Amino acid sequence: MINNSTFLTTIDIIPNPLIVTNGEKILLSNKSFLDFLGLESLEQLQTLCKCVCHLFIEYDGFFSLKDLKDGELWVDYIYRQKEGVKVSMVSNQGEGKAFEVSVGKLEEYEKTYVVIFTDITSLESERKILEKLAYKDPLTDIYNRQIFNTMLKQAYTDKHKNGERLSIILLDIDHFKQVNDNYGHDVGDKVLIEFTKLINQHIRSSDIFARWGGEEFIILLPKADIDAAYRKAEELRLLVENFEDPYLPKITISLGVSEILDGDKERSCFKRADKALYKAKETRNKAVKL
Ligand code: GH3
Ligand code: MG
Ligand code: MG
Repeated sequence: MINNSTFLTTIDIIPNPLIVTNGEKILLSNKSFLDFLGLESLEQLQTLCKCVCHLFIEYDGFFSLKDLKDGELWVDYIYRQKEGVKVSMVSNQGEGKAFEVSVGKLEEYEKTYVVIFTDITSLESERKILEKLAYKDPLTDIYNRQIFNTMLKQAYTDKHKNGERLSIILLDIDHFKQVNDNYGHDVGDKVLIEFTKLINQHIRSSDIFARWGGEEFIILLPKADIDAAYRKAEELRLLVENFEDPYLPKITISLGVSEILDGDKERSCFKRADKALYKAKETRNKAVKL
């Protein structure tokens, strides 16, 4: 294992984001890589993701885990390519960035790779691709459905590897059509913006909050079993019920909670959460777990 302080100081001088990995775990990271993700330490990075490859967004022309054959290490794959391999990752500011990735092997250590990322976002061709790939919902500035699905896949992979509990909450604003009908679409938009700000202030930074569509939202809660997720859902329900803005109509939300279970197919958890939400809608302003 590399813990040579000279080596650590050296990689921090390198302006490109850089990590050292065995292909499965991150062993070291330089400051530039941590800064990109808004993190302070290697430990925080290791908590966020076991493998950097889980941060790669699945998109045409960019490398992601789906390009690998079973059992193949992503670093080996990139190492073997003759042409530069491109990946896309989202910064802590929510910006989509394109990188060219170079992988080198550290000969003196077994299965140890240095991975250097060169930011190529500003190249015209990359900018065009990234413009098409929107990460954020333009109205509320939270993640959109496409990116949520990618992040969920990453979380599934992590869960299968380390057995952590993982839950989702579906949230739907009650009688939102009436808000539009009574106050106009612009006020409706403002309600959606303020609502998402409020929720954002009351979830953990590791939770992933996305607009599922219209007035429906979803939160992915890593390291949360169904009871913890249900408690959070109840907290959010009360928070919204009691929230007052002098310029906006009051709203309530209904929530469906479910945990991703071992053996679940990819959509099973959504189906349960959706069913739970449907049940909650029988009374509205309610959270149901299933
Ligand atoms: P329920 O309690 O059953 O969920 O009732 P609802 O009125 O919230 O549900 P419904 O599906 O009937 O209506 C959703 C409304 O949300 C209709 C649609 O115009 C509105 N909506 C969806 N997206 C937006 C948006 O971006 N801005 C605004 N202002 N309204 C939106
Ligand atoms: Mg609704
Ligand atoms: Mg709805």
